[in-house]
Amino acid sequence: MALKKIMRAALIGLAVLASAVSSMAAEAFSLPSRYSIDLKPGSDVNRVIQVLQSQKIKVVGSADMPDGPAVWIEIDPNNPPNVAALRPMLPEVQAYAPDVPRKLLALGAGYSDVLLNGETLPWGIQAVQAAQVPFAGNRKVCIIDTGFARGHPDLQTMRVDGIDKGAGKWDGSDGKPLHMHGTHVAGTMAAIGSNGRGVSGVIRTGNLDLFIVRAFGPDATWIYAGELIAAMQDCADAGANVISMSLGSPFASKAEERMVAKLTRQGILLVAAAGNDGNALFHYPASYKGVLSVAAVDSNLTHAYFSQYNTRVQIAAPGVKVLSTVPVGTGFTPHLTVAGVEHAARSFEGSVKTTATGPLVDFGIGDTPDFSVAGKICLIRRGTNQFWEKVVNCEGSGGVGAVIYNNAPGEFTGTLGLLGAITSIPSVSTSDVVGATLMGQLGQLATVNYTVHDYIASDGTSMAVPHVSAVAALVWSHFPGCTANHIRNALRQSALRLSTSGATDYFTGSGLVQAKAAFDYLAANPCLGSGSQYVE
Ligand code: CA
Repeated sequence: MALKKIMRAALIGLAVLASAVSSMAAEAFSLPSRYSIDLKPGSDVNRVIQVLQSQKIKVVGSADMPDGPAVWIEIDPNNPPNVAALRPMLPEVQAYAPDVPRKLLALGAGYSDVLLNGETLPWGIQAVQAAQVPFAGNRKVCIIDTGFARGHPDLQTMRVDGIDKGAGKWDGSDGKPLHMHGTHVAGTMAAIGSNGRGVSGVIRTGNLDLFIVRAFGPDATWIYAGELIAAMQDCADAGANVISMSLGSPFASKAEERMVAKLTRQGILLVAAAGNDGNALFHYPASYKGVLSVAAVDSNLTHAYFSQYNTRVQIAAPGVKVLSTVPVGTGFTPHLTVAGVEHAARSFEGSVKTTATGPLVDFGIGDTPDFSVAGKICLIRRGTNQFWEKVVNCEGSGGVGAVIYNNAPGEFTGTLGLLGAITSIPSVSTSDVVGATLMGQLGQLATVNYTVHDYIASDGTSMAVPHVSAVAALVWSHFPGCTANHIRNALRQSALRLSTSGATDYFTGSGLVQAKAAFDYLAANPCLGSGSQYVE
């Protein structure tokens, strides 16, 4: 999948938001709301605070550190202070940097996927308390996305309908490829639980009413706002209570905003992705008033680095390593086995998914053909030249598989790019540590291969959105007399606060969506009137 192409397309349209992390426009716009300022040892903290406050900058804290005091400030990313003017007024400053959110320590050690009776309970499903509230039915969720792989063994075949919008059959019944995105989102909402396979979604009983608008084609690039407007109307016409939109772009559209306002007045809850650009830009449709803008957190409930932060972020949900359904046979897991021991490996986008076995051989950085590697698995160091060049040189020398190990700490992934299409041997990446181990095992028998399955783990605010959409439907099913405003407010009031201050913030809004807490909130606070429109 061409991520760069997706993000370029986001400039002019609405892109889906799985793993499409980029630094697009970061230089111009990526102002976090909080900064830490490190002062020189012995600085007069009170003087610094007075100067900052005289410039209308909010000081949120200070501390004495071993190498000098520090002050924390909060700024409006849309109205940043003039740093150049401030600098001569504050000779005490030795460094300043964006502050990063930290979860409350009381929140525990984090979540992990749990395998039980042949089925994985994804960490995110646990984190949003999905299993603590049974589904009472009678709520319909509309998904505007890339379609739904009907026939996937872990997805319902009944109570799901949809509409084609020129991008192919909504359920893949025309036999043409479905992009994984829409099926992944649907699985997070509604993968069947306790069936001894795959995963479980937020609503696990297979009886959530789903309506699928297939607005995106098989390459999941982009659509116009006008097409999204029509798709939203399709959802409304289908009787949706919730419209789930794992998509967006930085550009607002007046017409789209009017449609959002209209559907909100009609009592439909709109949920959308805060964006994957890791900056403070608004992102639409999420950032229109009235839309639940969803940020992503990881399994430690820490704000995901790619998740956009701004005043319109309302709530957060799991969006890192989210395991869910994909069209049958399109999920792949890479494997690297040497001397009978499997090592952690990651896939290269564009690698063929075949199996290769042979003795492990050192192929340097893979910049020069070397026919002594014929019939062998090339062990190649990352760096200097492109991944595809390394793999092509290995293959051109007669190598049967390629392992590229990191030249920096940790694991990595990458793409073979357009030229990767000319490779026909399987390739995987691995860490510097594994690479060092393998350099001591040259000549041993190695295997590079991929196993095929129907699930993948994916990152993105796209993956966070369906958690919120399904929790909304789950909770709402018990309180059908509540309006969309009541539900939105209940989700926010009952969310698990993730900010350091315990208040709402730009990164995670009101915090992590919580099904049981929202249910309890509505049980204790019956819905009256129309519900206030916004909770800020
Ligand atoms: Ca299952």
